[in-house]
Amino acid sequence: MELFDSHAHYDDEKFDEDRDNLIKSIYEYGVTKFVSAGYSLESSKKGLELAKKYDFIYTTCGISPNDIPETRAELESQLKEIEEIAMSNEKVVAIGEIGLDYYWNKENKELQLEVFKRQIEIANRLNLPIQIHTRDAIMDTIEIILNTDFVKPGIFHCCPQNKDLITAGLKKDFYISFGGPITFKNSKNADEMIEIVPINHQLIETDSPYLSPEPNRGKRNDSRNVKFVADKIARVKQMNVEEVAKITYENAKRAFNIK
Ligand SMILES: [Zn+2]
Repeated sequence: MELFDSHAHYDDEKFDEDRDNLIKSIYEYGVTKFVSAGYSLESSKKGLELAKKYDFIYTTCGISPNDIPETRAELESQLKEIEEIAMSNEKVVAIGEIGLDYYWNKENKELQLEVFKRQIEIANRLNLPIQIHTRDAIMDTIEIILNTDFVKPGIFHCCPQNKDLITAGLKKDFYISFGGPITFKNSKNADEMIEIVPINHQLIETDSPYLSPEPNRGKRNDSRNVKFVADKIARVKQMNVEEVAKITYENAKRAFNIK
């Protein structure tokens, strides 16, 4: 069985001690493609280094709502550089993670909206999908999704389990990427959310090193745990896990335009 982890962060310092060995173990385990996502200019550069080093690693670049630089001049120069990096290599498969986060930052909503929209424009210029991070900003995210034209259907990373958000995404042909939280015992509506997303629009992810699924909740996460996310979807959709792995693998290749 081969698995595709649509979102992880292998540039994270939690992997500094064993990064290369771990990446090899993950591949040998059967996670034969994964996206190491950027969230800042710095991590976007590191992600691209990993993607250049391993042919089965892909990357995204972008500035997350929690990584917007302090000054206008720095922001402008970073946006320019993000576009240049994205243009420079075909292993950059999306602009992300980008979006809105009013949980960690509620003081700069206008700026977050601007930076989000401008990176959607970058994605559209480069014919790339966006990978969205959204937290405590459902209404504003829905409004942008429904009122923007996208050249490629985007991806909700670690999609919040919110029916209105998912419905809006599906209206625009987006992919819904589920992660560890759907396996949590206190996750009230996970089954319903998995049910409403057609299997050909689902992706699976870990967000490693964070958000380990059950039964490894609380430990450092790595892409092998994406299997537990596939297991959960298989149970809800009444499919076998091999089938879920295969379909989400093909979905991810389609979403990220990987041959
Ligand atoms: Zn992430």
